[in-house]
Amino acid sequence: VHLSKATFTISAPDIRRLPEDTGIEVAFAGRSNAGKSSALNTLTNQKSLARTSKTPGRTQLINVFEVSDTQRLVDLPGYGFAKVPLEMKKKWQKALGEYLEKRDSLKGLVVLMDIRHPLKDLDRNLIEWAAESNLPVLALLTKSDKLSQGKASAEVLKVKKNLAPLNADIKVQAFSSLKRTGAEQANKIICDWLST
Ligand code: GDP
Repeated sequence: VHLSKATFTISAPDIRRLPEDTGIEVAFAGRSNAGKSSALNTLTNQKSLARTSKTPGRTQLINVFEVSDTQRLVDLPGYGFAKVPLEMKKKWQKALGEYLEKRDSLKGLVVLMDIRHPLKDLDRNLIEWAAESNLPVLALLTKSDKLSQGKASAEVLKVKKNLAPLNADIKVQAFSSLKRTGAEQANKIICDWLST
């Protein structure tokens, strides 16, 4: 599997309009501004596959990228943006829950969190949800270039310890799109999922 083969397939306004639930899918989720688009671009080695934006919360579409006929990356809308109406937030959370529970092709979830403030309530909810659904999780602690290496490693350990009681398949990796830190490790985990 080569993630660099990813091409944009479709933007879906909701989970019901995703491509047919066959093959293998890996989803990317995170708070708005966590660095999800940048990470997708870094991991696929493409400058503008996922659109990065200075106005967080703008993209409410699910973007699907095909790696092959049977392998997809799914970019879920960023959550936690203050200006999104509560009603919409609730709707989205429900839809996201359904997706995690019911999507058969979903084989792994990448959760992106800023390394300087990881595991906010919604992040934790999402990870707990995935754990309950037996879905493997890769927690990418983004923008690790903003911390010294020592502090970044300490943060990884802290997050690992925090999630250990869930007793689930959760990997934690420091990541920087700017420096490509952790890109190889993340790439390997995602490609392994796509090959299951
Ligand atoms: P998204 O909303 O989760 O898709 O986040 P983006 O990828 O659009 O990034 C949000 C902001 O964080 C942008 O200003 C990016 O330039 C910045 N950013 C993303 N990744 C990194 C990184 O690895 N290092 C640093 N220093 N900034 C980053």
